[in-house]
Amino acid sequence: LSGEPPTFKIAMLGSPAVGKSALSFQFTTSDHICGYDLSLEMEYGQKTVSVLVDDVESDIEVVDHPACEMSTEAFCATYDIDLFVVVYSVLDVYSFRNAERVLHYLRENDMLLSRGAILVGNKADLERHRAVPQEMGHKVATEIPCKFIETSAGLCHNVNELLVGVVAQVKLNPQRL
Ligand code: GDP
Ligand code: MG
Repeated sequence: LSGEPPTFKIAMLGSPAVGKSALSFQFTTSDHICGYDLSLEMEYGQKTVSVLVDDVESDIEVVDHPACEMSTEAFCATYDIDLFVVVYSVLDVYSFRNAERVLHYLRENDMLLSRGAILVGNKADLERHRAVPQEMGHKVATEIPCKFIETSAGLCHNVNELLVGVVAQVKLNPQRL
């Protein structure tokens, strides 16, 4: 078997300031998750994590959507994405509505037929300022359907669990391998 390990591309989508970059940074600095070997490699402008899944090495590249520069639509058409991580802030109802809109857009454009999506409610550490109840996230995720998790990139809460969810999708979608 030859050469370069396959690359699995995950996109971080969502409104500005919800924590996409903070979560990407946490992914690419975790050095272990539940029994998987990770080796980290960060190059300028790109973030890659290598994971060993059932003795097969895969590279996971995190593509952070520059929301100010490119529409979600243009972004999805430009990059060949394998998994969509759609992030909102539990403090910000507008960002939740936008995440819902992005998931509907992906589903309506048949982009979820052979690819997964994970809805992420970030900033769960700021419970006192919460504006989006957890049930609202669950409800949208059930309806799409996709996975759902609340995280805190700030406290590194549930970030490994989210990465485990990403790795599970790598295992489910071996078409690129
Ligand atoms: P992006 O625009 O979606 O990439 O958002 P950033 O990752 O740049 O984060 C925006 C702001 O939210 C920054 O000031 C982060 O420090 C802060 N932030 C990100 N994640 C969390 C979190 O989980 N909890 C808290 N309290 N702040 C966060
Ligand atoms: Mg960012």
